[in-house]
Amino acid sequence: YPAGSQQDGETSLQELAALCETAGARVLEGLLQRRPYPDPATYLGRGKAGELAEIVAETGADTVVADTELAPSQRRALEDVVKVKVIDRTAVILDIFSQHAKSREGKAQVELAQLSYLLPRLRGWGDSMSRQAGGQVGSAGAGMGSRGPGETKIELDRRRIHTRMAKLRREIAGMKTARDTKRARRDRNAVPAVAIAGYTNAGKSSLLNRITRAGVLVENQLFATLDATVRRTETPDGRPYTMADTVGFVRNLPHQLVEAFRSTLEEVADADVLVHVVDAAHPDPAGQIQTVREVIGEIDSRHIPELIVFNKADLIDRDTEIALRGLEPDAVFVSARTGRGIDELLDRIAELLPIAEIEVDLVVP
Ligand code: GDP
Repeated sequence: YPAGSQQDGETSLQELAALCETAGARVLEGLLQRRPYPDPATYLGRGKAGELAEIVAETGADTVVADTELAPSQRRALEDVVKVKVIDRTAVILDIFSQHAKSREGKAQVELAQLSYLLPRLRGWGDSMSRQAGGQVGSAGAGMGSRGPGETKIELDRRRIHTRMAKLRREIAGMKTARDTKRARRDRNAVPAVAIAGYTNAGKSSLLNRITRAGVLVENQLFATLDATVRRTETPDGRPYTMADTVGFVRNLPHQLVEAFRSTLEEVADADVLVHVVDAAHPDPAGQIQTVREVIGEIDSRHIPELIVFNKADLIDRDTEIALRGLEPDAVFVSARTGRGIDELLDRIAELLPIAEIEVDLVVP
């Protein structure tokens, strides 16, 4: 990584690991290297690339993920050394977006982002290794980074990709109006919906599992393209609601992915309560909270009641907790790991949920 401290590098790698797990892969090993600029040939440089090849051989890894964008030639050179598929951070993020996109607009936005990522890389894509690695959609890990535009689309020439992109842009422009109308019609008697938002690695999916006691995360990841991220649960007094994990915020999101990211946040726009999960042990929780709130405002969701949840409370000391309480006096402190605070969280969610109109009818004579 060219700029930043050792800690920035480690934080970024932790986030990348969480992203890979979200995409359905199992992370075996991390390798951090400090150098003033990436090696133009192999990204890591000869020595470190050799070290990586040994790690790959020892662990039996089938994919290497680089934390920054790779030039096509760097990717090929690194593949030649490590002998397995090499992808970059952007490819992993696109993969997650494609799993999360549900609406027609979300899917179109993600395809648009995938095509614009693919376009400058067309030349480097044709080697036999990527061809073998691609297409195994659904097999956790092995397909990561190659979901999305499939073999036939990859072989389209640039002109056809441009035509497709223009068509998608026109369709998206048309769908924006349809979405506004749909939102105005939202069914008030539907089961209330809670959306969990926050940065990747904050512990959103751990918390969802803890809350809904589903505990079947591993199996669910295989079906991530189905709707594994929405669970049904109920309040302590028995009122049902749904809880959805939304696609995580990531640091330094590549510019071309911003629109696709927003379109996958639709669960937030349709939610009755927003559970905003923050990693209490992160070096800059205030900055993260602010960024999430800005984006929530931009997708017209500022009116949704928000509950700040500081997770990983088991990792922080007393002084940090006091400082965070000063920052967000109404926040709940929890640990998805130890279970601390989960009951309080469930009570606070229950307080914020709208009361269904039918219940109101019963209490008014
Ligand atoms: P997500 O990306 O927001 O869904 O985050 P995950 O649920 O995947 O969690 C990211 C990492 O943080 C994983 O390694 C979890 O084991 C870890 N984690 C989650 N919650 C806690 C917690 O309360 N305490 C600690 N110490 N670690 C946690």
